Amino acid sequence: MFKIVFSDFDGTLTYKEGLGPIFFDVLSLLENKKTPLVIVTGRSLSWGHFLLTHFPFLTDVIVEGGGAIVSRNGKFITEECLISPLEVLTLADFCTDFKLKFPTTPLSVDSFGRKTDRAIELHDLTDGILFSHIEQFLIERKINFSTSNVHLNFWCGEVSKYKAVQHYMKQKGVKAEECVFFGDSLNDQTMFKSFKNSVGVANISTIIDRLEFKPTTILTGDDNVGPWGVLNYLKKTL
Ligand SMILES: [Mg+2]
Repeated sequence: MFKIVFSDFDGTLTYKEGLGPIFFDVLSLLENKKTPLVIVTGRSLSWGHFLLTHFPFLTDVIVEGGGAIVSRNGKFITEECLISPLEVLTLADFCTDFKLKFPTTPLSVDSFGRKTDRAIELHDLTDGILFSHIEQFLIERKINFSTSNVHLNFWCGEVSKYKAVQHYMKQKGVKAEECVFFGDSLNDQTMFKSFKNSVGVANISTIIDRLEFKPTTILTGDDNVGPWGVLNYLKKTL
């Protein structure tokens, strides 16, 4: 039994970028077991708002790779920003320079709904030379970055999924060993590194060799891909 189930979103609770019926099976299983689900995603603050307003079972979503927490407080949706106002401004200034340097590389459309990070769609970065020039520019300007299943995300300050989850667990008075985390990608590594109960769904096999820190449990087989893996594991352990 876990006190909180933390899970990445893209590729872990979705399949091929689609939100399908298995996601709803995961929600109803956890609702029946009275176990909260906290999605920990690289998606934007506005995505967090969407998830909370459309899925009443969810009360908190950690977004922007750990940059902010969006919560439901009664009728209201509130946000807690985990970086400083100066870092928010520095990132905005960097984006102005980025657009001047790479005028043909758009920020992701959902960057409009982002506060603590910005993103570029990976499908806009199929040119490896462009990708390396952008990485070089980010490094020169001391801007942190990571890739998810869909985005190259970048931000200022110390932001990680684990740091935000740690902050959240402290607020709730819950210990890491009482919780579990599901993930599938490079931006889940801080959780794999520090979380005792971490589970990689089967599609993690595509990037497993690139992970410096691997999950403690790695699911395998076609029936454990993405949300199916989450559901199967929870059915066995809850
Ligand atoms: Mg993912």
